[in-house]
Amino acid sequence: MKTEFSKKILSWFRVNQRSMPWRNVSDPYRIWLSEVMLQQTQVNTVVSYYKRWLEEFPTLESVAKADLDQILKVWEGLGYYSRARNFHAACQEVLIHHEGRVPSDPEVFYQLKGVGPYTCAAVQSIVFNHPLAAIDGNVKRVVSRLRCIPVPPSKAIKDIEIFLDSHISKPSPGDFNQAMMELGATVCAIRNPKCTQCPVSKYCEAFQSDSVQEYPKPESRKSRPKIEVAAGLIWKGNKVLIAKRLNRGMLGGMWEFPGGKVELGETLKTCVRREIKEELDIDVTVGNLECTVSHAYTHFSVDVSCFSCQYKSGTPKPLASQDLKWVRIRDLKLYAFPKSNHKMFPHLPKKNPFVMTSQKVR
Ligand code: SF4
Repeated sequence: MKTEFSKKILSWFRVNQRSMPWRNVSDPYRIWLSEVMLQQTQVNTVVSYYKRWLEEFPTLESVAKADLDQILKVWEGLGYYSRARNFHAACQEVLIHHEGRVPSDPEVFYQLKGVGPYTCAAVQSIVFNHPLAAIDGNVKRVVSRLRCIPVPPSKAIKDIEIFLDSHISKPSPGDFNQAMMELGATVCAIRNPKCTQCPVSKYCEAFQSDSVQEYPKPESRKSRPKIEVAAGLIWKGNKVLIAKRLNRGMLGGMWEFPGGKVELGETLKTCVRREIKEELDIDVTVGNLECTVSHAYTHFSVDVSCFSCQYKSGTPKPLASQDLKWVRIRDLKLYAFPKSNHKMFPHLPKKNPFVMTSQKVR
């Protein structure tokens, strides 16, 4: 059954695989890049980013030699920015310690920054033919159905691994891994799986027992907390102040408008004044609310309210950031900002509203 299963899914994949720019390429750098981009992100979103990235950084060496600002600008909008920071650091490591060649030993590759079990297995199986099973969300769902696994996938990783290890094709482990993921993405979908078109329905316990809808068992859902944030668009003349986040942590190395979380009992305006004082050591007059935008991250969501603020006194210091810059609104596009800030851009005034107000008064 094991060999038959592998043969069936491989021959199905060879005929039905979708065309993607990283398929049928042999450059380990390009395959590694695609696997990093595909983590937590849909194929359709990745395609344009992948192409644009390769125009900017055609080789591993060009990534290693770029500075982090360039890297984040090209990654901007793809989210999960630690992937970009880690990939950048890992390429530098490869250039310095491995003569610019992606390590073909899985244990050595696994030591690189940002390389987890999934990336290691996917890259090493596709590029170097190591029989390592790559387990992503699609694969978990497919195996849960194939084996009628009675617990949620996160609690059955060992069983899923055992199944894949015993079925992975030794001559073509990379194609086997891609076939399992492709089956999950196109046939064994979350809703309405197309079991009548499935090449392995004969081996699927859920299909054979008419219980496909019961698998995978649902993960217990934690509610996603909502965080309220107030940010300041601090004006001085025709420029606004932007801050670059520290490299470590979420959204590290990205630029943003200064601000922070609203504390219990605090108004939005008080919050923005306090955050600006704490993070920059300057005083501002808080003016109009320009917009409130919402953005959902994996584990929480934020409502960000942005206020125009007039710079009053003090020299801005990067007390909670690594750099500060006064920039024109039209130049914001030169810097890498998180999605929540991009949502604000269309709502921001093009000119200093405090100057316009005082001119009107006169
Ligand atoms: Fe998924 Fe249906 Fe195929 Fe089973 S038969 S693996 S449920 S598509």
